[in-house]
Amino acid sequence: MDIKKPFVVGAGIMGAGVGQLCAQKGYEVTVVDISEEIVEKAKGKVRAGLSRRVEKGKITQDEMESVLSRMNWSTDLDLAKESDFVVEAASENLGVKKEIFKKLDFICLPETILATNTTALSVSEVASATSRADKVIGMHFFNPAVIMKLVEIIRGEKTSEETIATAKKFAENLGKIPITTSKEAPAGIVSRVLGGLLNEAAVVYSEGIASPEDIDEAMKLGAGLPMGPLALIDMIGLDIHLAKMETLYEKFKDERYKPPEVIRKMVAEGKLGKKSGEGFYKY
Ligand code: NAD
Repeated sequence: MDIKKPFVVGAGIMGAGVGQLCAQKGYEVTVVDISEEIVEKAKGKVRAGLSRRVEKGKITQDEMESVLSRMNWSTDLDLAKESDFVVEAASENLGVKKEIFKKLDFICLPETILATNTTALSVSEVASATSRADKVIGMHFFNPAVIMKLVEIIRGEKTSEETIATAKKFAENLGKIPITTSKEAPAGIVSRVLGGLLNEAAVVYSEGIASPEDIDEAMKLGAGLPMGPLALIDMIGLDIHLAKMETLYEKFKDERYKPPEVIRKMVAEGKLGKKSGEGFYKY
């Protein structure tokens, strides 16, 4: 099945990014969120990001306008009835996602594929809110969605091979390289491997071993990472990282995934990283 009308639920960091990516690749896309205010903010961010690319000479003003013209923004989930492929990128909360999937199941055409961009929740559990578990799949984009090459395709227990093939093709049409898990795998590959590393960097910081700058520089120079782990947590969002590690800890009952106290404390203080203006660094 060739995808013609993608639809994105959630206009946060990931939803706005996936929406922009679709528009850049020529798709007419609709992005929805729960309030006009959030939608307007996301729209402004996408415009500002594209303007910077125009200033740098990477795209022309006309290209920018044509990308923006392919993006429709709304607060009306019912518009998903015209879509053949929905990417849900709402908050990382099972209740929220199940509620959205239940509504989408009712709104969308029977053949529409429903993908979740969840970091660590079970695709099968999300799918259980629908009557089309064979058409529910994990499609895990990375941040920033416009740039990062990988998309993890994560199976639910009942996801059909046809759904997997369509999601892979869609990812390729978006210029991405899909990697598919062989079985249901909350947190896929990258988040699970990376999660422990990010936790440990936060612990090293909280023990006062070095400054965020030095921890990041050390990991870049000594481990060949392109970006320091603390700058990366700031970019992901401390709340998102915390939610992911809590899910993994609950699921696997393994101390390796237990979120460190320092992350909990910072989230409670509203230090969520780049999006809130402060995390391990100030923005
Ligand atoms: P975010 O907090 O920036 O955005 C989430 C958005 O979802 C918010 O704007 C919120 O208003 C909206 N939302 C909540 N309930 C909704 C509903 N019922 N209908 C429509 N919109 C609703 O979060 P994010 O970082 O964009 O993460 C979104 C999803 O992507 C999460 O599942 C997260 O785990 C996953 N993810 C995040 C990253 C990352 O680096 N931030 C990377 C990969 C995947």
